[in-house]
Amino acid sequence: MKMHISNLTAASTAIQENKVFGGADEILLPYLDSLYKETFDAKDQTTFTKVTQYWEGQFMEDMRDLNVEAPTVITRVSDYMPHIVRFVEKVISKGFAYEADGSVYFDIAAFEKAGNSYAHLRPDSRNDKALQEEGEGSLSKNLGGKRGSGDFALWKKSKPGEPYWPSPWGEGRPGWHIECSVMASDVLGSQMDIHSGGVDLAFPHHDNELAQSEAYYCEHGPHTWVNYFLHMGHLSISGSKMSKSLKNFQTIKDALDTKNGGSTARNIRIVFLMGRWNDGVEISPDMRTQANGWESTVDVRTLISQTMHSLTMYRTSLPTLNL
Ligand SMILES: [Zn+2]
Repeated sequence: MKMHISNLTAASTAIQENKVFGGADEILLPYLDSLYKETFDAKDQTTFTKVTQYWEGQFMEDMRDLNVEAPTVITRVSDYMPHIVRFVEKVISKGFAYEADGSVYFDIAAFEKAGNSYAHLRPDSRNDKALQEEGEGSLSKNLGGKRGSGDFALWKKSKPGEPYWPSPWGEGRPGWHIECSVMASDVLGSQMDIHSGGVDLAFPHHDNELAQSEAYYCEHGPHTWVNYFLHMGHLSISGSKMSKSLKNFQTIKDALDTKNGGSTARNIRIVFLMGRWNDGVEISPDMRTQANGWESTVDVRTLISQTMHSLTMYRTSLPTLNL
């Protein structure tokens, strides 16, 4: 409620002052969408591609500025549409997915009946409606025809104005989880040792990835697609999870803006290293002071001046030792 009130206040002030305001996207975009979305010609995908290419460029730039090494392989879901369609077709042909009104859903009941288990990672969350709905995405509301309430989309029928690709089930696009299963399997094969991600992805995202990949690969009995999952804790700022909807996020560019109170890439790494990998990190002024202290202790310049100091001490003590 607080967040909506502050959004509306910011919006009304900005409209009166004729300015662009933070949060404009949450008020203006749904409105523009309601007016023009269905008139948008989604056949020409350049508009979507322009957006994704821009954000990919921004992300790569941030990673370079943070001194993160480039990945060995980069995959883009838009290059994988035929693979995704073939993957979904195989899961259907094995009896673990079904088509309903132009979308394809994973059949959890059939998968379990064949001796596989669903929601390995978070068995307690398997009936959590809120998490399931979040996993399906806001665009999927009102999609009917599911056999089980937990069944999730492998392929979604596109509505007018949404991006689409051809498929045997009509024009649509991949479900959220399927892209990871298909791209990872294409690069790593039928099994991988370690899969990581934020702890919020454990259910439903990783549990659904596991189910559909194990459905794809299982032959005579259950298949193990991933040996180990590492779920990282969240980054939080003074007690609350960093998220776009809470408006307490900081961009990497701001965090690295040393002229305006930002930190160096090394300092940011040290802050992250001060928390345990699975506990999450809470960035507080205290934490930054601690990180600065630790950094100056191990800083090469500090070490050199300490060594020089010891050497001088040693030399001055030589005559008294009679050496
Ligand atoms: Zn994933």
